[in-house]
Amino acid sequence: MAGHRTKPSGPALRVKALEALLEEKGLVNSQALDTIVETYETRVGPRNGARVVAKAWTDPAFKNALLKTGREALREFGIHQGKAAKLVVVENTESIHNVVVCTLCSCYPYDILGDTPWWYKHDIYKTRIVQNPRVVVKEMFGLEIPDSQEVQVHDSTSDVRYFVLPQRPKGTEGMSEADLAKLVTVDSLIGAGLAMEPAQLRAAAQSGVAPEMPRVRPD
Ligand code: FE
Repeated sequence: MAGHRTKPSGPALRVKALEALLEEKGLVNSQALDTIVETYETRVGPRNGARVVAKAWTDPAFKNALLKTGREALREFGIHQGKAAKLVVVENTESIHNVVVCTLCSCYPYDILGDTPWWYKHDIYKTRIVQNPRVVVKEMFGLEIPDSQEVQVHDSTSDVRYFVLPQRPKGTEGMSEADLAKLVTVDSLIGAGLAMEPAQLRAAAQSGVAPEMPRVRPD
């Protein structure tokens, strides 16, 4: 299973213990659990979201459909959202920067963005992003939102899930959809970051850090 760490944290050990107990009682099958986790970590992942964004950047009709009825537009695009709730796509513009949170638990459009980044489930993010989003995105993610942009926070529920359509970066004219998708990070789909400029992608490639991966938890 991907994502194993050499030194598991307290909660990870508890989950392992629970999994072992449930398996012993014949209630779960570890292999089936591994398959589910792997599906979300590798096959769904944030790449689906990135493909959708790149398409929206290059196809105005698709973008309009996506903003109007996210779920139906995605179905046409070949992404099926399962039984999840209504999907709302919020567009970042020159005047609005959108941020997504689930203050109650951790609702998230898994079918499109894969597994949640760890910080999305963290109490500090969940509580403070609503109180002062401008300060929190700067402190947690180093993202400075200019005063010219209003920050709107969207609280996900079991009925409505959100994802952000980031602004298309400058210097990307003429780029193919496939190359544009590489500029879309997990953070940018939640509003915790911006889509990368081509130079940033090149720098990330040189540093050997996969830019689309969620930032590593500092523990
Ligand atoms: Fe939730």
